[in-house]
Formats: sequence, C-alpha cells, structure tokens
Amino acid sequence: AVHGSRNLQTHSQTEVLDSKNLRIKLVLLGDSGVGKSCIVLRFVRGQFDPSSKVTVGASFLSQTITLKDSTSVKFEIWDTAGQERYASLAPLYYRGAAAAVVVYDITNPETFLKAQFWVKELQKHGNPDIVMALVGNKADLEYQREVTREEAQTYADSNGMFYIETSAKTSDNVNQLFEQCTEGDIAKKPKHSS
Ligand code: GDP
Repeated sequence: AVHGSRNLQTHSQTEVLDSKNLRIKLVLLGDSGVGKSCIVLRFVRGQFDPSSKVTVGASFLSQTITLKDSTSVKFEIWDTAGQERYASLAPLYYRGAAAAVVVYDITNPETFLKAQFWVKELQKHGNPDIVMALVGNKADLEYQREVTREEAQTYADSNGMFYIETSAKTSDNVNQLFEQCTEGDIAKKPKHSS
C-alpha cells in the first residue's frame, strides 16, 4: 500500500503503526570509547555530554523524528549490545532490530577492525533484512584520522551497508545518520503488500 509518497510496506522488522507512524528498533554496536553513547545523547537530547553515560544495563532511549513527508518515526535505541561484556547476549538484542548502527572511531584503526567483527556477527545472527550503517565517528578529529574514508566506504559497499561519518561533538551528520536508517529501510529493501 502506498500512502502519499512513501511506501510503508517495509520489511518485517519495522513496525508500521499506521500510515504516518513507524517504529524502528535500532541497535548500536562497536568498541567501547568510540562514542556510541555520545551519538545517542546528541540525537536524543541535542547535547554533547561525555560525562553523562546513558548505558545502564539493558535500558534504551527513544526518540521520534518527523521526516520530510511528515511520517513520524519512533526510534527505540539500544546501546548495550555493543559492549564486550554483553557480546554473548548481543544476538538477543539485534534479533528484532530493523537497523544496526556499527560505530568506529576514525582515529583508531583497532575500532574499525572491531566494527568488522560486529558486522560479521550481524550477518550471522541478525535478521537478513536488517539495515546496517557503518559509522566513522569523531570526524571532528580529522587531523588524527587513521582510517581513510575510502577503505571504510569500500568495506561498507561490499557488505551492503551505508557509510557515514559523524561527530557527536559538533553534531555533524548525527541526525542524518538516523534519517538515513529509515531511508535504507524503505528505499533499499522495498517490499510489496502481502
Ligand atoms: P561509547 O563507549 O562508545 O558509548 O563511547 P562514549 O559515548 O562514552 O564516548 C567515549 C569518549 O569519546 C568520550 O570521552 C567522548 O568525549 C569522546 N567522543 C565521543 N564522540 C566524540 C566525537 O564525535 N568527537 C570527539 N572528539 N570525541 C568524542
């Protein structure tokens, strides 16, 4: 069914509440220290506040945005599965996830390798329709960059992910990251009415 300009028959993991409301469970993965909590805080509260950790146990934050076509999208954001100490539980988190955001720090090549580990995990245990984003965070630290855009883009392309660089500090591309998760959802994996 097409409602306005947007085909709302998206893949099974996105809940279509009604023609103008979607709900997307989104999980964040990546090495600790890459800025996952800061990205979420920037998105949800519009702040950069590294001292205020939101990751406590299995809690999540939610944030609703309105897209250009006035569709409202409620994100339920899980920020726990990316921590190593929860690695064995991670499949429980991403099982029902419509989107997975895999974050690394552009100044730290080890975190890029860790991101690749999480991508493989998602490919093994995630739902096959999951929208995956590869996020190079701390883009404000360009002068300390150690992972090139090219290698990240190439990796993302060969793994069916979209790639974006963000800065939770300056807020660069943070909203775009989440918006693009809904675009990937709808544009990349269109499903027809069943
Ligand atoms: P997490 O463990 O992945 O949740 O990482 P945090 O969100 O706790 O961030 C770890 C550290 O990285 C914090 O001390 C932040 O100050 C810093 N940080 C996070 N995002 C950015 C960013 O975009 N730019 C810079 N320069 N520092 C960041």
